Amino acid sequence: MGKAARILIAVAAMFVLGAGLGASLGVVSGSATAAADSVIATSPMPAQDATPLRTAAVASQAPLPHAPPPHVAAPRPATPQTVAVLPDDTPPRDAALPAWQRFAVPVAATVGPRIAVVLDDVGVHVPNGRRAAELPGPVTLALMTYARGLDELAARARANGHELLVHVPMEPFDGKWDTGPNALRTGLAATELDRRIEWALSQFDGAVGVNNHMGSRFTSDPESMTVLMAALADRGMLFLDSITTGATKGRVTARTAGVPYLARDVFLDNEPDPESVWARIAEVEALARRNGAAVAIAHPKGATLEVLRVWLPSLAARGITLVPLSALVTPQPLLAAN
Ligand SMILES: [Zn+2]
Repeated sequence: MGKAARILIAVAAMFVLGAGLGASLGVVSGSATAAADSVIATSPMPAQDATPLRTAAVASQAPLPHAPPPHVAAPRPATPQTVAVLPDDTPPRDAALPAWQRFAVPVAATVGPRIAVVLDDVGVHVPNGRRAAELPGPVTLALMTYARGLDELAARARANGHELLVHVPMEPFDGKWDTGPNALRTGLAATELDRRIEWALSQFDGAVGVNNHMGSRFTSDPESMTVLMAALADRGMLFLDSITTGATKGRVTARTAGVPYLARDVFLDNEPDPESVWARIAEVEALARRNGAAVAIAHPKGATLEVLRVWLPSLAARGITLVPLSALVTPQPLLAAN
């Protein structure tokens, strides 16, 4: 980890934001949608688009191919913001720490709104998984349990300053979707559910937690989620609820088990065209300004990756800090009371 673990300082370029897009703020897409349970669409992208991380993060002068909608453009700070990811060449962190802290990407204390960007389904499409690992960060990559080459992809992502989740397939309400192998399902024998959870959590090292792929049926079943949360508590992992159903029991079962819980606010690319992604970006920025923080989930599709490469380095110049997911964990009332 040492060589690649350098201080990453992203000095954001001062973007002059064009205001010509004219897209209006659409209906908030924070609610669960059927598309969230769909299998991913993938498209290979030209190799020459793979810009090295630090070049993109430090000195992006590229004009915005799609300027964010006017309401995204908050007043710029008088001086460029500096977002520092702390050096990772410190001694290994205490192995006794819970995984969500041991494998967390360290960040400097910040003020102002924060956004965590999670990419789901990473690794299924190999070239786009690698491109996701090269994004300006820190972002959080949710690696699909059944993808190949996860050890290498995980190492590459962490070397580039990204955080990792295990993206675990879980049973959707609609049986027509193919969850892939070893999905967590309601109604499995306890030993089989335990086996599948153990399998999922042993596919690669270095994850701070888990989030659900599909899972509208599984996450709404309290008994099943209690089994999952017990396993996460054992390992000190956090749970990011993708919220593929409003009936999810993620929050209550996580709290009972003492598992740090976070919830997705906006899916950026259920509608994968760039203008729709920019509209969702406007929503997540507005949420972050209103609530102090927001969690966006996107997918490593070609168009989404292109938008992210433009958007992520532009955040600092507008006073928003891009953070790894673990930075948004807040103390839990249940634990604080004990
Ligand atoms: Zn997924």
